[in-house]
Amino acid sequence: MLGGGQLGGFFAEAALRMGYKVAVWDPSETAPAKRFATHKFNTPFNDANTLNEFVSTVDAVSLEWENIPVELVESIQSHKPTRPSSKSLGLAQNRIKEKQFLRDNGFPVSEYQVISRPSDLVKVVQELPWIVKTATMGYDGHGQWRINTEQERDHMSSQITGEGPWVAERVVPFEMELSVVVVQGADGTCITYPATENKHENGILRMSMCPARIDPSTELAAQNLAKEVIKSIGDPGVFCVELFLVNPDQILVNEIAPRPHNSGHHTIDSFSISQYEHQVRALCGLSISQPIRIGSTVLLNVLGDEATTLSRVETTDLILKTGRARIYMYGKESVRPGRKMGHIIFSGDDIEVLEKEASEALVVLSVR
Ligand code: AMP
Repeated sequence: MLGGGQLGGFFAEAALRMGYKVAVWDPSETAPAKRFATHKFNTPFNDANTLNEFVSTVDAVSLEWENIPVELVESIQSHKPTRPSSKSLGLAQNRIKEKQFLRDNGFPVSEYQVISRPSDLVKVVQELPWIVKTATMGYDGHGQWRINTEQERDHMSSQITGEGPWVAERVVPFEMELSVVVVQGADGTCITYPATENKHENGILRMSMCPARIDPSTELAAQNLAKEVIKSIGDPGVFCVELFLVNPDQILVNEIAPRPHNSGHHTIDSFSISQYEHQVRALCGLSISQPIRIGSTVLLNVLGDEATTLSRVETTDLILKTGRARIYMYGKESVRPGRKMGHIIFSGDDIEVLEKEASEALVVLSVR
């Protein structure tokens, strides 16, 4: 596994359960996935000796972070099966390439412009609001600036950081954000999980509901759109396609993750096959099967300092006592504002009840 975050950790757990050993390469010795690794590589991703050792240790390679250097994946994939490959990684790493690919293949995306200097915004951005995003290395709302007023637009140049070019995007007046996990096997078999309904706060996923509260035809349209996007890339592995539901007749593609997704954690709890087991299956050339949903879930992310609150026994117990909550903490050593420290899955039948419980838990977690 290239990358040692929580997604890699859940992959490693699934792989160990199925009888595999897992090598994790991540420069951080304490990366969450290292808790489950049978072999650990702690050097930077450009270390040539580690590359040789890693390639000779493993039989197949997957990744869990879109900022793994593409060159590293290119070197590895010429020796060992690597799923996904540098093809989808390269697309997901660069918003400009990703949007271009989607547009060229006829998939609907939001109105956008590429700008090479922040001062170009004045020309490009007319009807507000818009969002400016760095083309590379953005995550969880980092590297994004929202422009609500003309005054903000005219002063945005001084706020925008990083190296250009940037993507300026019209803010989409969506009804709902959805995401669909898609699994593609090396033989071309392609399945989708039901869409999840996602709620973000400051660009960070806060809650995710499955099933999404949409009608069956919208559900089908979302799954089909996501599947077509992944088929058009043609790379085996687990992917997530993030969507904006504008109205039942218009769904836009926001972005593609070439890996399991935060909004798919619940597949561990409420599907016969989790997205992580499917990552193992896709990597090892095993069957890709339609998973069966065995319940409804609401996911609540535990962000930043909320982890400190949750570490108190009384808080944990308050959340656990209804019998519907399952806590997953990632073992991250340092707390940063907005950092994903863990998540809680509320399982049951009725999404409304679960959402209420998740909202109550959030209030508990917010008490300092
Ligand atoms: P991204 O990193 O592109 O996935 O953006 C993170 C979150 O910011 C999205 O999930 C949305 O909640 C919000 N966002 C990003 N782009 C747009 C847009 N064009 N219109 C409305 N909201 C957006």
